[in-house]
Amino acid sequence: MTTQALPVAATEEERYRLKTAASRDFFDRAREYLPGGDSRSTLFYRPYPAVMDRGEGCWVVDLDGNRLLDFTGNHSSLIHGYGHPHVLSAVERQLRKGSCFPGSSEPQLGFARLLCERVASIEKIRFTSSGTEATLNAIRAARAFTGRHRIAKVEGGYHGTVDDVMVSIHPSTQEAGGRSRPRATPHSRGLTPDTMENVTVLPFNDVEGARELIASQATELAAVLVEPVLGSAGMIPAERSYLEMLREVTRELDIILILDEVVSFRVAYGGAQAFFDVLPDLTCLGKMIGGGFPLGAFGGRSDIMAMFDPSDGRPAVPHPGSHNANPIGMVAGIATLELLTPDTLARLNVRATTFRENLAQLFDEFSIPVQVTGLGSLFAMHLTGHPVRSYRDTLNADANLRHQIFLGLFNEGVLIDPRGVGNLSTALGEAEIARFGDALRTVLRRVRGPY
Ligand code: PMP
Repeated sequence: MTTQALPVAATEEERYRLKTAASRDFFDRAREYLPGGDSRSTLFYRPYPAVMDRGEGCWVVDLDGNRLLDFTGNHSSLIHGYGHPHVLSAVERQLRKGSCFPGSSEPQLGFARLLCERVASIEKIRFTSSGTEATLNAIRAARAFTGRHRIAKVEGGYHGTVDDVMVSIHPSTQEAGGRSRPRATPHSRGLTPDTMENVTVLPFNDVEGARELIASQATELAAVLVEPVLGSAGMIPAERSYLEMLREVTRELDIILILDEVVSFRVAYGGAQAFFDVLPDLTCLGKMIGGGFPLGAFGGRSDIMAMFDPSDGRPAVPHPGSHNANPIGMVAGIATLELLTPDTLARLNVRATTFRENLAQLFDEFSIPVQVTGLGSLFAMHLTGHPVRSYRDTLNADANLRHQIFLGLFNEGVLIDPRGVGNLSTALGEAEIARFGDALRTVLRRVRGPY
């Protein structure tokens, strides 16, 4: 933490600027070579993001030496915090043997076995370098298997940067169309021209609306793709009846159900699919399973996954990739999941449930309307008085207050995702979690002012 006395600052942004001079200087230099000064658009926030130097357990330290309690875990990648000794020693051992090879290796087989045994719906699996590649290959597999082209995704759902899923991620109220018949809206310029015509956007947690849409396009749809907990929209869990309906209707109509568990896998030992007891045809994994290294995976039914088998000549769906199943990611992932026993996971989830309850209570003390959403160790704060069951419900939340709270927490030594989202890691103890509450109380007192 910076030790010299700071001038008095009136706003959270002024306080933030006073604490982050080195980050500002970094961005001044970095903008010369990198558009926006970085390579990851979701990390940007105003006035400029903090630049990280190192992580230690549940702490992350920025360039100015600010020590921040990390409630992000690199946006849910690090469930055991930074540098857990079990993960570190597995990685160090593997680094000495080799960081990549022109051939498969034992760690890949070990990790494949572990995941197939842990996730009920995964009979066969393949590894990629990112979650984006996992969803790309799952979608392609669904198209190849069914011979159909159209895919359905949920409004507010995020699945990486492939054209087909860069649709209706954060549409504005004006763009979004009817609530139960959302309009497909491009999330980026430069998408393939017919992308919008080939994607159906489903309303989330609307059983009848989504069922009708799927049924009306039954013969065209290759896949329905859904996150069991909408991450980017603010940790909004699916309702069990919604996922059950998706399973039922896709089974009836021979449509491939893909669950994107890149974020939600941490919800239960066998993923959110085990929690909801809804088994998809294909599952996408990423983030946490890499133990802090770039990794993704997709897997599921043997008959679909067989299309990737090259044993008899060119496979139906080729899947090359220089760093697929990279052994560093494999051993880091194995070590991470070894630590995540059913008991450890249950303790983490109980702690997070209390944490979410306390959060809601704290806002209540200040009479600030909030909806705290989440599942397992995931949480989000939506600053609205209305229940949040879908992306649509977040559109009227107070984005300005959310930003003040985000900067305020940073100023008090606590890091969450700028979208008001976060998660608990096993590295955070009761004392650190209590500090979050103290920091939030201080911030709410400041941003709320005398009342
Ligand atoms: N699916 C979900 C649900 C995600 O949250 C993300 C990343 N935020 C992805 C896919 C894409 O993963 P990656 O960033 O590793 O490409």
